[in-house]
Amino acid sequence: MPEKVDMFCYQCSQTAFETGCTVKGVCGKEATVARLQDNLLFSMKGISAYLYHARELGYTDPEVDAFIEKGFYSTLTNVNFDAGEFVKLATESGMMNIKAMQLLKKAHIETYGEPTPIEVKVGSVKGKGIIATGHSMKALEELLKQTEGTGINVYTHSELLPAHGYPGLRKYKHLVGQIGGPWFDQKKTFSKYPAAIVGTSNCVLIPKDEYKERMFTLGVAQIPGVKHIEDYDFSPVIETAKSLPDLEDEPRETVLTTGFGASTILSLAGKIKELVEAGKIKHFFVVGGCDSPKPQASYYTEFVKNLPEDTIVLTLACGKYRFNDMDLGDIEGVPRLIDIGQCNDAIVGIDVVVALSELFGMEINDLPLTFVLSWMEQKAAAILWSLLALNIQNMYLGPIIPGWVNEDILNVLVENYGLTPIGDPKEDIKKMLG
Ligand code: SF4
Ligand code: SF4
Repeated sequence: MPEKVDMFCYQCSQTAFETGCTVKGVCGKEATVARLQDNLLFSMKGISAYLYHARELGYTDPEVDAFIEKGFYSTLTNVNFDAGEFVKLATESGMMNIKAMQLLKKAHIETYGEPTPIEVKVGSVKGKGIIATGHSMKALEELLKQTEGTGINVYTHSELLPAHGYPGLRKYKHLVGQIGGPWFDQKKTFSKYPAAIVGTSNCVLIPKDEYKERMFTLGVAQIPGVKHIEDYDFSPVIETAKSLPDLEDEPRETVLTTGFGASTILSLAGKIKELVEAGKIKHFFVVGGCDSPKPQASYYTEFVKNLPEDTIVLTLACGKYRFNDMDLGDIEGVPRLIDIGQCNDAIVGIDVVVALSELFGMEINDLPLTFVLSWMEQKAAAILWSLLALNIQNMYLGPIIPGWVNEDILNVLVENYGLTPIGDPKEDIKKMLG
């Protein structure tokens, strides 16, 4: 195990031993401040990803842009040495991330319509294929337009699964289903299917040689040796797909249900209230976030598998692939597993939670509700801070505690917000259900 450093900063020429300040800054910066600066950068990177995808569809928010400028500036050398201020900035980043997620949601809905639930088949059908992975709905839309009438089938992978919920995207009949699961199954999945592949955003893996030639990136995603397409011109992808062998018919027995928007869930509000009051729904869980290849992430599968039948799970982002093939059934017509979409759709989760608190006339923290989050990608820091900014208490976090958290920061998170590292799934369920 390498030795743990208190901090790491090499952003200016004063840096210790000309390699990096690792205990305390030569400038006087404390380790906790350095870590909180890193946390703020991660959160702002997350916000930037959502702003980027909103801008792809022509939507911007000058207030969030202004915050990003202030936030970056605050991390320059010799600007701000105050840990408390960086906690405040992190909280502000959480509120700005809510605005960014609202902006992207508005962009998606105004462009592609309000999502509605849909069952998506997993696996290939006979014919040429293109697999699109990542987060960009705009890229998928352009791909669908350009492949229409070519006979090529288009599949989503990973975080493009929620695209099927949008009427403006699922109207394309050649959007035939989903292939694979979370981001980290790419090497296995992309080797298996002889399709052209498009990486539309973050979470592209360095490809294996066996599919490198048929892989493409666009936008921010780039990989040395992999062709990058410009201006959403998918002609080289289409030519490649045509040159490849057909994908085969698979049984497609696994079906994933996605596309629960706020309006669909809230249309069930009356029924949910009735079921809660009758004691038929005891607790709600929001279980999601990024998925991690770490073995500890199997916690989330075990967690959902062991939940009592009078509970409802809202899920989002790659974390859902740990359990979204389970049939949890329904409680008198209310599905027990509700996939609200991509990580930015955490805003739908927030809207639903706020609506539940209004419905029951209770503060959010008094609701029978627990957040169980999985952390992997740095942009998840933005979502964590959004939930903290809303003062959501007693969330569970795993599969590991983020590396930028030291004892001081963990104490603040535990004391102020009751944040709890995940433990044993069955024991945690007992604690959560009181
Ligand atoms: S900003 Fe401070 S902590 Fe960072 S490298 Fe310079 S002296 Fe070290
Ligand atoms: S949800 Fe997280 S892990 Fe999954 S593709 Fe998006 S950023 Fe990557």
